[in-house]
Amino acid sequence: MPTLSAALWEAQGGVCWWCGQPLSPFAGGKLAATRDHVFPKSRTGPLGDVGVTLLAHRACNAKRAASWPTDDDIRTLVRVWRRMPPELMHNWRRSALGQACHHPNPHARAAAAFTALLLQLLERRP
Ligand SMILES: [Zn+2]
Repeated sequence: MPTLSAALWEAQGGVCWWCGQPLSPFAGGKLAATRDHVFPKSRTGPLGDVGVTLLAHRACNAKRAASWPTDDDIRTLVRVWRRMPPELMHNWRRSALGQACHHPNPHARAAAAFTALLLQLLERRP
C-alpha cells in the first residue's frame, strides 16, 4: 500500500488543494508540501488517522488556519478521496468508526462520523 502522502500526491495530481498551484517534493519553507487537516486539528484535537488530510503548501495550510471546511472544500475532499486506493479508505473508515462514538470532543466525533460516512459511500461507488 502506498503511504498516505504518496497516495494523496497521486490523487491530487501533484497540486495544492487550496491554491491549485503545483507542489514540489523538494520545496522547503512556505512552498513545502504539508498534510492539511480538512477538519482543523485546532478544533477537533488529535484525531489520529481519522483526521482526513489533503496536501497543501505550508503557507496555504497556515492561511486556512482553523476554518471549518466549506461546501466547496467538501466537494474537493470527495473528488480527491474518490481516487484513493480502496484498501487505504477501508482502513481509514474502520479507524473513523471507532472514534465517532467514543471521542470526548464533540467536534472530533462529528468529523469522525462524517469521515466514516463519506468513506463508506466512496467504497460503495460503482
Ligand atoms: Zn497552495
